[in-house]
Amino acid sequence: MGELADFGLDDEDFEAATELAEQVQTVAELVARGTELSVPLAVSEATQTLTTDAIDEEIDEDEAVGQGPACAPGCSACCHIPVSATAADVASILDWLGAQPADVREDIERRTREALPRATGTAPRGVLACPILDVDAGTCRAYEARPLACRGCFSDDASQCVPGGTISAFVVPQVIARSASVGVRMALAAAGEDGACEDLIVALARELGRAP
Ligand code: SF4
Ligand code: SF4
Repeated sequence: MGELADFGLDDEDFEAATELAEQVQTVAELVARGTELSVPLAVSEATQTLTTDAIDEEIDEDEAVGQGPACAPGCSACCHIPVSATAADVASILDWLGAQPADVREDIERRTREALPRATGTAPRGVLACPILDVDAGTCRAYEARPLACRGCFSDDASQCVPGGTISAFVVPQVIARSASVGVRMALAAAGEDGACEDLIVALARELGRAP
């Protein structure tokens, strides 16, 4: 759980984050043992709702005291920064992509291919939009299938969210998403799957056959 220390949590919050990671890990390991789907996809399906419910509960509490997020469709600076994804996150996106019309699939594949040099650092990254973003609408085309890291990104001040720069994000939803990601990765590793995190664009490019 070392990476949760990055957030400088107090003991109580650290304990809560650790408990969530363990809860997610337990659910994910149970699912991984009994699934007929691919393990990463089954793990993602079993843990996305758990994570989102925990985040929604936190956001509801913020809104109840008038400190809710400013996030809204069309606001997308946070879709112009690197996204860290697990194999379960990537499986979720690929499953969604497989159900899309050909023009959407082709657009995302093309944009992923074009973004790869900037995502790997062989070209300057600059302000790089996520290939899944509907740039005109400023919305995520795979909203229901989006990675855990995206689910935990909220801010109360859109003016402080800079495309390609820093996002002034709430800490607790980020911690929930990171805790869940830790649990997912531990379960994937225990099931013999890849338990690492990597850049979403790089992972997508590889899975779409665009990169080694
Ligand atoms: S995190 Fe920032 S950029 Fe993203 S939707 Fe919320 S306010 Fe907008
Ligand atoms: S997956 Fe969706 S929410 Fe996440 S960065 Fe890409 S467009 Fe934004």
